[in-house]
Amino acid sequence: MDAIYLDNNATTRVDPAVLAEMLPYFTEQFGNPSSIHSFGSKVGEKIRWARAQVQALLGAAHDTEIVFTSGGTESDSTAILSALKAYPERREIITSRVEHPAVLTLCQYLEKHEGYRVHYIGVDAKGRLDVAAYDRALSENVAVVSIMYANNETGTIFPVEALAERAKKYGILFHTDAVQAVGKIPLDLAHSDIDMLSLSSHKLHGPKGIGALYLKRGAKFRPLFRGGHQERGRRAGTENTTGIIGLGKAAELALAAMETENTQVKALRDRLEQGILSQVSHAFVTGDVEHRLPNTSNIAFEYVEGEAILLMLNRAAIAASAGSACTSGSLEPSHVMMAMDIPFTAAHGTIRFSLSRENTLEEIDRVVAEVPAIIARLRTMSPYWRKDGTTGEFTPAYS
Ligand SMILES: *Cc1c(COP(=O)(O)O)cnc(C)c1O
Repeated sequence: MDAIYLDNNATTRVDPAVLAEMLPYFTEQFGNPSSIHSFGSKVGEKIRWARAQVQALLGAAHDTEIVFTSGGTESDSTAILSALKAYPERREIITSRVEHPAVLTLCQYLEKHEGYRVHYIGVDAKGRLDVAAYDRALSENVAVVSIMYANNETGTIFPVEALAERAKKYGILFHTDAVQAVGKIPLDLAHSDIDMLSLSSHKLHGPKGIGALYLKRGAKFRPLFRGGHQERGRRAGTENTTGIIGLGKAAELALAAMETENTQVKALRDRLEQGILSQVSHAFVTGDVEHRLPNTSNIAFEYVEGEAILLMLNRAAIAASAGSACTSGSLEPSHVMMAMDIPFTAAHGTIRFSLSRENTLEEIDRVVAEVPAIIARLRTMSPYWRKDGTTGEFTPAYS
């Protein structure tokens, strides 16, 4: 039985075409792109090509707006720390309660140890950003807004283009962590007010440890790394040439598959979701189902533990992920579920299914066949659940 991988928001398989593009640059074309000789210039040329592929995927106006980094986390840190250095007199930051730890942990650090005031904008029960609270937080004291494009747990898409437009009126730099959005939904940065945007290669079938920061022409920037003149002095250090070439190819493939992602992958996701919900009671989809990535479904199964579901799925050779943070030794549900005020009995049983263009109809149908039995079995063992004497159905023992 082949394993079914439905954890593509955690990482994706490197596309074989990406690997093939990278391989010659380890042993044949191994030059340093800064070198004048042909070993160097051939790699330099290929990096220019890769930069253009990323530019195209983002709909950016200039290829010089793409700065290669080591991934999503470095891009997020660079964007936020750069903005704070560029506007030292501004001592406030706006972010959201549902950011990835790459943004949230940094903001909490800056608040606690460097005296910044951080506005953590909340969301409603459907995961939608409290735009009124965002508007109230905007002022000329704010150096940077960092609000994610799409949430990694629920797939909820925030209206970042509109948020960026509003921030601009106060001269605030607008950054978005678009690690989950890039490659899944079309972007048009040339016609937006977004100043900085983070992306990561391994979330779009590229290799790990490489990513990029989009930096709008004219936006103030202060590098995190200083040294050589690589990346026009914006990110010193010899380029991760094979990584960059892999990311370039992954970007090209993602752009070509954009239509597939938003039709076929989305249809499979919907089939999975409806297949499960039609058979399992006391289960619901979390987040904003209308404004959502095409590949993500986060389902809350009430009165069961997400960890237990994952273990049983794993035994059935199905890989997914839990919204609860039990794996990290904490008994708290994830900060995203808490921000949405999902009741504890449901927040503990959230499972994220995240698809990719590599998933098949057969795989989805097998998952739909397995999940209801797994949930039913766990519920018979749940203290929150009992068999109704009259109907024979299992119902919540408490509500
Ligand atoms: C995966 C992820 C990151 C981190 O990217 P890395 O390349 O793994 O550092 C940041 N933000 C979001 C939303 C992510 O999903």
